[in-house]
Amino acid sequence: MRRIFDYLPHPQRQVVVGGRVRVPFGRRMMVGVVVGESDHSDWPVEQLKAVDEVLDQQPIWPQSLLDLLKWAGRYYQHPIGEVLTHALPKKMRQGEQPNSADIEVWQLTDAGVAQDAQSTKRAPKQWQLLELLKAGAQERATLSAQGVTGATIQAVAKKQWIESAPLSALNESLSQPSNQPPATREQSIAITALCSRLQGFSVSLLEGITGSGKTRVYLDVMSQVIEQGKQVLVLVPEIGLTPQTLSRFRHHLGVRIGLVHSGLNDSERLAAWQAARTGELPVLLGTRSAIFTPMANLGLIVVDEEHDGSYKQQDGFRYQARDLAVMRARNEQVLLLLGSATPSFESLANVEAGRYQHLTLSERAAGGQLPKIAAIDMRQQVMTGPLSAPIVKAMEQHLQANNQVLVFLNRRGFAPVLLCHECGWFAECHRCNRPFTWHKGFRRLVCHHCQVERPVPHQCDSCGSTQLVPVGQGTEQLEEALQEQFPDYPVVRIDRDSTRRKDAFENLVADIQRGHYRILVGTQMLAKGHDFVDVTLVVIADVDGALFSSDFRAGERMCQLLTQVSGRAGRAGQQAQVLLQTHYPDHPWVQQLQTEGYQQVASALLAERKQAQLPPYAAIAIIRAEANDETKVAEFLAAAELVLNTAAQRHEVIVMPPGPCAMVRKAGRYRWQLVLIAPQKAPIQKLLTESLGEIESSKLAQVVRWHVDVDPHDT
Ligand code: ADP
Ligand code: ZN
Ligand code: ZN
Repeated sequence: MRRIFDYLPHPQRQVVVGGRVRVPFGRRMMVGVVVGESDHSDWPVEQLKAVDEVLDQQPIWPQSLLDLLKWAGRYYQHPIGEVLTHALPKKMRQGEQPNSADIEVWQLTDAGVAQDAQSTKRAPKQWQLLELLKAGAQERATLSAQGVTGATIQAVAKKQWIESAPLSALNESLSQPSNQPPATREQSIAITALCSRLQGFSVSLLEGITGSGKTRVYLDVMSQVIEQGKQVLVLVPEIGLTPQTLSRFRHHLGVRIGLVHSGLNDSERLAAWQAARTGELPVLLGTRSAIFTPMANLGLIVVDEEHDGSYKQQDGFRYQARDLAVMRARNEQVLLLLGSATPSFESLANVEAGRYQHLTLSERAAGGQLPKIAAIDMRQQVMTGPLSAPIVKAMEQHLQANNQVLVFLNRRGFAPVLLCHECGWFAECHRCNRPFTWHKGFRRLVCHHCQVERPVPHQCDSCGSTQLVPVGQGTEQLEEALQEQFPDYPVVRIDRDSTRRKDAFENLVADIQRGHYRILVGTQMLAKGHDFVDVTLVVIADVDGALFSSDFRAGERMCQLLTQVSGRAGRAGQQAQVLLQTHYPDHPWVQQLQTEGYQQVASALLAERKQAQLPPYAAIAIIRAEANDETKVAEFLAAAELVLNTAAQRHEVIVMPPGPCAMVRKAGRYRWQLVLIAPQKAPIQKLLTESLGEIESSKLAQVVRWHVDVDPHDT
C-alpha cells in the first residue's frame, strides 16, 4: 500500500523514529517501523490505536540511510513499507533482536591438525574444509561461500577434527596481510588519485581491461580506508562472489570480511547485518541487496563490474543498486569507486558530463596482450558441424599446443525449436506463444519464458508424423557435436542446466582450472569473473540474434558481453585469439569491435543515443500491466494514459500511447506497457507521484497486475 499508518505513542515508553514497534493491525499484531512523528492526524484521534510494544531504543538505521530508503521509495515509486522491509534481514522484520552470538565459528582440533590428505582420500570435500581451516578459525558463512556445505561440516565435526570456537578466535586467525607484487605504474597512478579523494563525496570510474588488475586497486585503496578505522562496502554481481574473490580479499587485507549472499541462513544474515551496523566489521562484501546494510563508520563504497545487469532488481522493488550507491555515497559523504572493463553507458555519460572522475588501466598487469577479435564470415563457409571450417582448424591448433578453447553460445538446451518435418508444426508453449526449447538430457521440452515443462512428444500434435527434427542449436547440442568432432579432448558444458546442483559451478570451474577439460562450452556464466589461464582461443558461436533485437540497449549489452568473453583468453600472457562467427561481418559493431575495441564502440553507440534522445540522455519510466484478458490490460493503460495526460506536471514528459510488450504473451497473460520519456528524471518522478494515486484507485487497477519500472533495463 502506497501509504503510512498513524498510531498513538506508547503509553509509557519512548518511541524512536527509525526504530521498530509492534502495533495492532486489523486483527493481528505486526512489526512496523516508525517513519516520522506528528502532532496531528487526518483520522479522528479516538479511532487511532496505540503502539503496543517498543522494540528498539535506538533507530535501526543511521539517519542518512533512512533518508536514502525514503528517497528510493519516492524515486522508484514503490510503497515505503515494502522498501523498508526489503532493507531488513528477515529476523529483524519478525521483531527479533540482533545478536552477534549467532555467528558460528569453526576451528581445527588437535586431531584435525594431524590429518593429511590420505585420511580423507575418499572425501575430498572434507579435506577441502580441513585445508581451509589450517590458516585459522573461520565463520560458517565464509566457509559456505567457499563451497563447504553444512553436511560436510557436520561430518567432520562428528569425527572431532573440528570444533566450534568463540568469536574472538576469528581475529587471532587473521594473518598479516600477505606481501603483494608492486603495483604497476598505471595501478599506482589510480591508487594515488583515489586515495586523495577519500574525504567527502565523489565518484570515480575505474575503466580497466580484463586482467589489468582492478581488484588490486580496490584492495590498496580499501587498506587505506581500513587503516583510518573506517568501513568499506563492496558490491559484486550475483555471480561474482566466488571463493577466489573472498580469499583474495582475506589475504590482501588481513581483516574479517562479512558476507551477504544467497547461501546464508537467517541467523547468519542477521549477524552480518549487525556486525556491519555496529562498525565492528571492517569490510562487507555482498550482492545487490547489501547496499541497504547500515554501516556505523562508512569510508568507501566499491561497485565491481558496475555495468552488470544483476544490480537491477527485476521484480517488486525495482531498484538499481549501483545508482543507489551514488545516492548513498552522497548522503554519507564518501568516495564511490565504480569498476569495469566495459562501463555502463550511464557511467560513461557521467564521465563525459564531468560528474565522475575517469581512471583507466590499459595494460594487463601480469603481462600479455588483450586478444584481437576476428570475424569469420559464415556466408562463404561450408558447414560440416556447428562451427565453420576455419574455426575447427584454429581449435585443432590451440588444442594441439596443449591449450584450452572456450566456445561461447548464449543459448541453453539442445535446440530452441522442435519441428515436424512433414507439416511444419512445432512444439509451442501455449501460455507464451513461443517455441519450446528441447532439453535432450532432461528429456523435456522447457519454455524459457515461463519455465513450464512437458515431455518430449514422439509424434507431431498436428499430423501425427514421427519425424520431429530439432532446428537451431543450444549449448547441449554444441557440446555433443564438439565431443564427436574432437574425441581426444574432454569437453565440459557450463550453463544453468549443468550447474543446477549446489556447488556444481564451483566444482566445474575448479576442474577446468586444474586442466581436466580442454574444450569449454558455455553461456554467459563463463564470461564473468573467472580466470581460465590456459584458454588461448575464444570462439563466439553466434552473435546474429542480438543484431536484430528491438531493445535499444541490445548493442551495449552485446558489446559488453563479447568484450568480457574475449577477456577470458590469454590471461597468462600467451598469444590469444578470439574468433566470432557471423553472417554479418560488415555490421558496424562487429566491425568496430574488431578494429577499435569497447571504448570506441561505446562512444559511437552513445552518440546514437544522444541523437535519438534515449537514456542516458533522457529518462524513462514504464508502467507495465498484464492480465488473462487483453482488453482489460488495454483499458487499464488507456485510463492511466488519460490520468497522466491531464496531470498538471505533464509538461516536458512525453506519454507514449500504450501498446503490447515485445513479448506480448507470457505464462498465459497478455502484457502491455506505457512508456514515459523526459529529458530529465525529475519531471517523470513528479508526474508519477502526482498521478499514481489516481491510477491505483481505478477499478481496473484491482483486476490487472501492474507495476511501475523507473529506469527500466528492458524496454
Ligand atoms: P581485473 O579484475 O582487472 O580483470 P585482476 O585484478 O583479476 O584483474 O588481475 C589480473 C591478474 O593480474 C591477477 O592474476 C592478478 O594477481 C595479477 N596482478 C594484478 N596486479 C598485479 C601486479 N601489480 N603485478 C603482478 N600481477 C598483478
Ligand atoms: Zn506434422
Ligand atoms: Zn511459456
